[in-house]
Amino acid sequence: MPIEKVYEPQRFEPHWAQWWIDSGIFRAAGRNSARTFSLVIPPPNVTGMLHIGHMLEHAEIDVTVRWHRMLGDNTLWLPGTDHAGIATQMVVERKLAEEGIDRRALGREGFEKRVWEWKAQYGDTIKRQMVRLGTSCDWTRERFTLDPGLSRAVREVFVRLYEKGLIYRGEYMVNWCPRCLTAISDLEVAHADVQGHLWHITYPVNGLKDRYVTVATTRPETMLGDTAVAVHPKDERYLDLHGRTVQLPLMDREIPIILDELADPAFATGVVKVTPAHDLNDFEAGRRHNLPKIQVIDETGKMTAAAGPYAGLDRFEARRMVVNDLKLRGNLVKIEDYPLSLGKCQRCKTPVEPLVSTQWFVKTKPLAEKAIEAVETGRIEFIPANWSKTYYEWMYNIRDWCISRQLWWGHRIPAWHCRECHEIVVARETPAVCSRCNSEELEQDPDVLDTWFSSALWPFSTLGWPDQTEDLAVFYPTSLLITGFDILFFWVARMIMMGLEFMGDVPFRHVYIHGLVRDAERQKMSKTRGNTIDPLEVTEKYGTDAVRMALLQGAAPGTDIVLTEERMVSSRDFANKIWNAARFLFLNTEGATVPESLEQFLPEPDPASLKVPIEDRWIFSRLNNCAEKVNRAIQQYRYHEAAQTLWHFIWHEFCDWYVELKKIRLRESAGPDAGRRNLLAAFETTLRLLHPAMPFLTEELWQRLVKGADRPASIAIAPYPQYRREATDFEAEHEVERVQEVVTMARMLRAESRLDPKQQLEGSLYSRGAGLEIARRHADAIARLANVSLEYRHGVAPKAPVLRSTAEFDVLLHVPKSQEEAQQKRVEKEREQLEKNIASIKRQLSDEVFLSKAPAHVVETIRRKLAEYESQLAKI
Ligand SMILES: [Zn+2]
Ligand SMILES: [Zn+2]
Repeated sequence: MPIEKVYEPQRFEPHWAQWWIDSGIFRAAGRNSARTFSLVIPPPNVTGMLHIGHMLEHAEIDVTVRWHRMLGDNTLWLPGTDHAGIATQMVVERKLAEEGIDRRALGREGFEKRVWEWKAQYGDTIKRQMVRLGTSCDWTRERFTLDPGLSRAVREVFVRLYEKGLIYRGEYMVNWCPRCLTAISDLEVAHADVQGHLWHITYPVNGLKDRYVTVATTRPETMLGDTAVAVHPKDERYLDLHGRTVQLPLMDREIPIILDELADPAFATGVVKVTPAHDLNDFEAGRRHNLPKIQVIDETGKMTAAAGPYAGLDRFEARRMVVNDLKLRGNLVKIEDYPLSLGKCQRCKTPVEPLVSTQWFVKTKPLAEKAIEAVETGRIEFIPANWSKTYYEWMYNIRDWCISRQLWWGHRIPAWHCRECHEIVVARETPAVCSRCNSEELEQDPDVLDTWFSSALWPFSTLGWPDQTEDLAVFYPTSLLITGFDILFFWVARMIMMGLEFMGDVPFRHVYIHGLVRDAERQKMSKTRGNTIDPLEVTEKYGTDAVRMALLQGAAPGTDIVLTEERMVSSRDFANKIWNAARFLFLNTEGATVPESLEQFLPEPDPASLKVPIEDRWIFSRLNNCAEKVNRAIQQYRYHEAAQTLWHFIWHEFCDWYVELKKIRLRESAGPDAGRRNLLAAFETTLRLLHPAMPFLTEELWQRLVKGADRPASIAIAPYPQYRREATDFEAEHEVERVQEVVTMARMLRAESRLDPKQQLEGSLYSRGAGLEIARRHADAIARLANVSLEYRHGVAPKAPVLRSTAEFDVLLHVPKSQEEAQQKRVEKEREQLEKNIASIKRQLSDEVFLSKAPAHVVETIRRKLAEYESQLAKI
């Protein structure tokens, strides 16, 4: 069994990544089995490139999925991508612009063709990257939100909701991006705090000479579209104005003074302008009072004909002109600085314009009620639990969902407008004639659906719905969703609503919300900060396993993850440590084989002594303990704990102690005895425990280690080690702990005294209890591991310069004559230093002024320090 000297992950990672797929290891069975575990991927945008946040998400998912697969569950991780309407359209538009082509010149069909071409060329970037990183998806079930099957599901859902009255067309105030020329959802508006102004404008009251009202606005150009001013009905300052009208400056239009609670008596003068076409609250007030809507800003952000002399101007240019004209006419009485939260398009950063337009909506209240209940009754559990509060808050205040987008890339709305009778026909299949007048003059609605509409159906549309497929029966509801908090509303909440409505059941049982990846200074990673980590670059450099381990170690629930170069370096060292242990193993276990039953193995006795070697009993007991902790940690999504437990066990128990003890044992006996077989078995079990966290390294070593026709084809489908009560061996643990204690004490003494580790020393071990016999039994191991030959004595050690004590032992090293003097000097110096420290603290504690001023806890700390110094001095 030859093994290369150096750990070089680049040599074998791509091989296993491809092999796993080719041999169908990750393919789920399409039939019911005793236990099923299923999970759908949060579909990355088809325009996407893998970033470190994906890598964290995928590492966490992969650990859980691989764990379930090794538990023997029928396990499905369903992968796929999202067509990402606006994001993809913008990418392709930008590409066309480089060629000097405008999408409108291509026409809708021509443009869609170009997007599909783009997708064919670049759309599988993220898949290739995921495959390379070993994510254990079932690629035979890969889906894309615009697949024919998923598109059929989208139509079916649309039609059913429409027939149920839960989809309607309505005039509504939407957030409009004048650059993207589309409505965008509240959630896609990025708010920025900016320094704006509040302009105070006077409107003369008709019929009352010299009587004015003053309104205050942050967007003065919208006054051109005012159709009323409002005062609070109880505002005593304006009782005389009830029923009157004002004259709108610049436009010279007579508009009513209405009584509405929209007007807040405490804000500015208590009078507000009402512009139903350009503000959501005004829109609603307009509905209450039957006010006309005068649109003065158009879809492109320019002033309309209704803006009179300002028609054709850009909205911000119009603002300057309006302010100027008001000033000239004496209607502008005050301008004050005013901080405001400016809504911008998340995609292109253009200030959003609230506009009234006709859009398609989903009535969400009835859907939300069931979705709230599903979480309240515990049918869906959020982890960490506090995310359910955020969820409730949003769901209780949910507004109808505007689902139409003025884009070309996406699911076209399955509604047709009749040119003859203006009927709207909503249908699953493209209708030939109008259902009302039989006209053939039908035109499909030009809009597409919000990209989140199709992703809301993802957990069941990907499994074949609306057909009652076997996959749907086996894998729905899915077991778990792992995702980021930023799409809790966009996606998670909507999947819950749609799943309950169309499947009659929740889409998943558990939702684990992961944190963000941050840099060493705990800064968010961003391109503008220049602190991003490219996952493919670092996996090339350190190996995928090392980067995964570095991420997982920090992945505690409810916290962000700090990823640093140092952490990746030390994770590579960890992988290297395992590699070296494997080298030792391969060199020393020739002829020995791994036991056939991987599941039930207990250490076997040495044929010569008929006893199980103590170190084997110990490591199997420790392995059992490690298995218990890691299984529990993965089950509870405590990925950091799983990673840290494995790290500690492998590095500080398996490599530091077990391998070293084994070296001593193997020197004593040759041949394929149980000692060798136990070593192999312990290592093999360790690899299986580690596999979900570090899949490549473990597969590479396991394939070399485990032979035989009956074994599973891959470690990925070998059984995951489970805790067994009978495998705990307290006696062995206690015994090896005593050896560790003595060796550690001797090593520390040597280090403290700055003695050469290679120099063989002599000393004595004193013990008052049973530890003495145990230690004496392992005198040989202790002598070799600590490089010291000890005399074993009962009782308490005499005072000596190089001495260390625990409850059970005193270890005393005899320093060679040549070094005694240096030792003595070192002790002297230490004593002097301690005496100085003690004197200084005593001075401080007798200083009345200091004592009266210093806080109690500071004084307490100083007192404790004094006690510590004094006890050290006593020892010396
Ligand atoms: Zn935009
Ligand atoms: Zn018709």
